Amino acid sequence: MPEHVLRVGALYPELMNIYADRGNLLLLQKRCQWRGIGFELASVTLTEDLDPDAHDLLYLGGGQDRDQKLCAQDLATAKRASVQAAVERGVVMFGVCGGLQLLGEFYELDGEKLPGLGLVDLRTTRERGPRLIGNVAIDVDLDGQSRVLAGFENHGGRTVLGAGAQPLGRVLRGHGNNGRDGSEGVIGGPRENIVGTYLHGPLLPKNAWFADWLIARALGVSETELAPLDDTFERAAHASARRAAGV
Ligand code: GLN
Repeated sequence: MPEHVLRVGALYPELMNIYADRGNLLLLQKRCQWRGIGFELASVTLTEDLDPDAHDLLYLGGGQDRDQKLCAQDLATAKRASVQAAVERGVVMFGVCGGLQLLGEFYELDGEKLPGLGLVDLRTTRERGPRLIGNVAIDVDLDGQSRVLAGFENHGGRTVLGAGAQPLGRVLRGHGNNGRDGSEGVIGGPRENIVGTYLHGPLLPKNAWFADWLIARALGVSETELAPLDDTFERAAHASARRAAGV
């Protein structure tokens, strides 16, 4: 597919990059390059304008609470309208952990409510109790196929989905959004193009199928149009992450 170019906008990559979340971008880049699909990566950080037409996929990784605080205000004010316009155009918005939390209404911690983008109906609260940490596997049903995502979670925030939101998957092992209701992540938007998950690791090298799903969605093609790759190592990484989670 040489005529295609995947244009990725990484939001606050120097602040929202915990547990090597940047590795997700590397995998997207490699899987495009290996197929002859063009790949462009731009970072958009604090105080920089976000052009809603400049990207096919926007990526927001995870971050420590203090880094998240720096980004939340900027995201929910200066960049909010641009992200909303992009998402309405069908741009994929992919958030991991802290990124997932900021897709929703707010992240409340230490008596303070960090504003979110309000793209999906979810709320996150830093409750008393231990952080939710460990290997995790979830069952994901996308495009009529049931598949597994495996990774690692470490979050203090508990996320609860509102009635208008769908989880990305159901917890097989681990805590998920809040350790109580079996939901993990979120998927929504006009074309199921808003996706969030607590899974780090980084997530995509352990779940190459999901990288391809994101690439296809962002390019507006079907997954079957993407040329197959030799995924020997990727399958081994996936199997190892599943084993770690006990699935
Ligand atoms: N700071 C957030 C929390 O602890 C997100 C953490 C993360 O991105 N790993 O809930």
